[in-house]
Amino acid sequence: MRLARSISLRALLLLAPVLWLGSCATRRPDSALLERFEFAQPQMGVPFHIVLYAANSSEAEAAARAAFARIRQLNDALSDYDADSELSRLSRTSGEGRAVPVSEDLWLILHRSQALAARTGGAFDVTIGPCVSLWRKARREKKFPRSDLLAEARAASGWQKLRLHPRTRAAELLVPNMKLDLGGIAKGYAVDEALKVLSDRGLTRALVSGGGDMAAGDPPPGKRGWRIALAWLDATNALPPQFVLLARSGLATSGDAFQHVEIGGLRYSHIIDPRTGLGLTDHSLVTVIARDCTTADSLATAVSVLGPDEGLKLLEATPGAAGRIVRKPGLQMETRTSPRFELED
Ligand code: ADP
Ligand code: MG
Repeated sequence: MRLARSISLRALLLLAPVLWLGSCATRRPDSALLERFEFAQPQMGVPFHIVLYAANSSEAEAAARAAFARIRQLNDALSDYDADSELSRLSRTSGEGRAVPVSEDLWLILHRSQALAARTGGAFDVTIGPCVSLWRKARREKKFPRSDLLAEARAASGWQKLRLHPRTRAAELLVPNMKLDLGGIAKGYAVDEALKVLSDRGLTRALVSGGGDMAAGDPPPGKRGWRIALAWLDATNALPPQFVLLARSGLATSGDAFQHVEIGGLRYSHIIDPRTGLGLTDHSLVTVIARDCTTADSLATAVSVLGPDEGLKLLEATPGAAGRIVRKPGLQMETRTSPRFELED
């Protein structure tokens, strides 16, 4: 899931007010006992940031190192760019008629993905890989995919063609040429897991972000939460920043602002509508807050596909989830929020 470099711009927009974008640790006294530390490192093709409060720099640095190592380990297992990843090896067994036991991380993600696929009628679909590959090529060549290739890609996609065997924790890819793509969920899982590494070491006051998706632990000392600036639809129509307060939850953003291709006057997103196999043409930016970032990340992608009406219903029906959808159907920008979505002054 090495995501395009351009995405880092969104991370900058999102994080600039909160984070210092250095490549090494800095500290700022915050309370008598705890100091604030910040770390940054590129991972999964995007910048990852850790902000944490710790008693001293050696504790902070060791924890950040362990958290980044965990993210790297997940990338090694879950990347669809790396031909040696566990995910790519699994994809190569498609159509062989066998169920392959998978690691605990891959199992958890596939399980969560299939549950969301079932809830959304397949709007969220990690078997979308063949269509994603075609659209990556379309983006490079600025050419609409050939219809026979599109038909082939669609025949090799579909969440019901991925069968999970809970007893053996094995995955079976039912038809040939399938390709799993975890780009809509793995970043969220990686920041959740990195946060867990920190809290297992007693550093619960922490925020981990990756390419704009983030997992927040306990708030900074004396604060009610981490103050996060929300991204706008695109930089040219940016309005004054809006903020949310985040604590013990995840936030993810999904949209076509930074990754899209324009062909024949239409703008296609890197998010695919599994019903057509085509990139979305709805110009939108979806922000979701949920109990963890795995949930937020996958919901943000699902809501992008479902659109505002069904998308907001999905958020309302998910315990602890809330979100905002910014769209520009014509010339006017339109913002809709789910009832639980709360801005901070
Ligand atoms: P970003 O990667 O820009 O943060 P998302 O979290 O929405 O945005 O993830 C988009 C990625 O998810 C795509 O690049 C692709 O790898 C994957 N994807 C595309 N369409 C779908 C879909 N319908 N369901 C699940 N994953 C998808
Ligand atoms: Mg997502």
